[in-house]
Amino acid sequence: MYAFKYQRAESVGAASAALSADGSAKVLSGGMTLLPSMKHRLTAPSALIDVARLPEMTGVRQEGDHWWVGAATKHQDVAAHAGLQKAMPGLVMLAGLIGDPQVRARGTLGGSLANNDPSADYPSAALALQAQIITDRRTIEADDFFLGMFATALHSDEVITGVRFRTPQRCAYGKFKHPASGYAMAGVFVAQYALAGAANGGWRVAVTGVANGVFRWHEAEQALAQGAQPPALQRDDVIDDVHAPAAYRTHLALQMLAQARQSLT
Ligand SMILES: Cc1cc2nc3c(=O)[nH]c(=O)nc-3n(C[C@H](O)[C@H](O)[C@H](O)COP(=O)(O)OP(=O)(O)OC[C@H]3O[C@@H](n4cnc5c(N)ncnc54)[C@H](O)[C@@H]3O)c2cc1C
Repeated sequence: MYAFKYQRAESVGAASAALSADGSAKVLSGGMTLLPSMKHRLTAPSALIDVARLPEMTGVRQEGDHWWVGAATKHQDVAAHAGLQKAMPGLVMLAGLIGDPQVRARGTLGGSLANNDPSADYPSAALALQAQIITDRRTIEADDFFLGMFATALHSDEVITGVRFRTPQRCAYGKFKHPASGYAMAGVFVAQYALAGAANGGWRVAVTGVANGVFRWHEAEQALAQGAQPPALQRDDVIDDVHAPAAYRTHLALQMLAQARQSLT
């Protein structure tokens, strides 16, 4: 690993200032992805600005018809939250399925969204639950946030401080795990909102692990709105690699949609 500076931020403002002052500095949250990337020399930031212990970026609270989850909130704390379990059980289930206990004890919501791994779980929940990604300078709708594999609308010196998820009528997550990493070979998040008259009838279906980035499965949403059988997934960017051929991943998407629908509450 290259030499780098380490700075524990005292506030979001201090983190923003440190990042603006050094164009090669990076936010450090759980470190579950960033530190291995540095060890493999895939990235070499000059400084790490640690936001993992900032109280203003941590915790869960209800805000009207939304739930705010701090960006530095650990997966294990989302998985164990009683209020979220009642309001959006699919999100709680998703957090509990991430990696293993060690990863859930360190990895954070903000780190997962900022990294936007095409097989990460949280991006699908953010899309399906109409999340707003709140940063140190603006609010970004989830529909505008994910820009493809490991790419987001974030500026390099921008800090996600929290995420507001819109409370659905019901939601659930279906995940087929890679047996070694725990990442999604296919993950499908389904949420239903009261939206009479919309083409999707209030249904939102988001898929991870299957293509070059998380995406809304509009054909499945329309089928659910019409009470019809969801059609097979058709995309030209389905991942085809040593872990699974494209046809298998496409098949898994349909299976995970069925699994999520079965556990809708
Ligand atoms: C063995 C293993 C198994 C895993 N399995 C899964 C899985 O099954 N499903 C899954 O979804 N994920 C999985 N992960 C990923 C993990 O859950 C974390 O979500 C992920 O590593 C990123 O979160 P982090 O807090 O560790 O971020 P870090 O590693 O600290 O940072 C990741 C990136 O995000 C940036 N960043 C971090 N926080 C912020 C912020 N607040 N604002 C702006 N940028 C920020 C960093 O600069 C860096 O570029 C796994 C990881 C490991 C190591």
